[in-house]
Amino acid sequence: MSRTVYVNGEYLPEEDAKISIFDRGFLFADGVYEVTSVLGGKLLDFDGHAVRLQRSLNELEIKNPISKEDLLEVHRVLVAKNDISDGLVYLQITRGAADRDFAYPKDAEPTIVLFTQAKPGLANSPLADTGIKVISIEDQRWGRRDIKTVQLLFPSMGKMMAKAAGADDAWMVEDGFITEGTSNNAYIVKNGKIITRHLGNEILHGITRAAVLRFAASAQMEVEERAFTLDEVKDADEAFITSASMFVMPVVEMDGDPIGTGKPGSVAVRLREIYLEESLKAAV
Ligand code: PMP
Repeated sequence: MSRTVYVNGEYLPEEDAKISIFDRGFLFADGVYEVTSVLGGKLLDFDGHAVRLQRSLNELEIKNPISKEDLLEVHRVLVAKNDISDGLVYLQITRGAADRDFAYPKDAEPTIVLFTQAKPGLANSPLADTGIKVISIEDQRWGRRDIKTVQLLFPSMGKMMAKAAGADDAWMVEDGFITEGTSNNAYIVKNGKIITRHLGNEILHGITRAAVLRFAASAQMEVEERAFTLDEVKDADEAFITSASMFVMPVVEMDGDPIGTGKPGSVAVRLREIYLEESLKAAV
């Protein structure tokens, strides 16, 4: 079945959607993206994603080709046209097509593309009952990870390293400290305290992270935002990740060793429930 996608102001069947080979997203990874989850036909955390999108565009000095209201409308139209109950909306904006030059072109019009992906049962992943296994890898991504760019080759390589090691994902390590997962933020829990890396250029500022930390604070859970080491992961009571498409996902193994009991921990399980419940309540 052909999907309807959105390209530069038009809704088109996916097979008719085209962008230029001179697009700087293609040539330089000169673009940004967002992924917003859809549950029960509604968008989770839309505002958070829209705000981060604007921030990423500002950092790269790319003109935003669409207002927040119109962007919400496009998301909703695609969800409706493609009959998405559970799934996601992928959005990418690039600097646009121009003759190849490392310097930013003066007059390029940004390219904007959105498409949906159906993921039936997205919130009922059986993995949430078992937890996932991760390995640690050296963080070899670039230094401005706070910008949500499409420069995703190293995260993609890391994911493949994890799969080759029989794990589900990798947590990246820099100067002895965990930065984050290949496509998610990383957390440990020790003596009831939730520990996750502080914001900075070293990690992506997860929208799910922000929401989960808010919910944790409302539930009187103790949170510490600081860098933590691989040894602390191995000594933790539990661990978990967050992202728009995984929500809160327990992590039960690191580099082949169980974390805590080797089963999803109670803090992760509770935060997953709270996140799904609260963000669905606020979903648009
Ligand atoms: N860190 C990285 C490197 C990511 O790619 C992502 C998700 N794409 C996240 C964290 C989680 O961000 P969010 O909760 O906004 O999906």
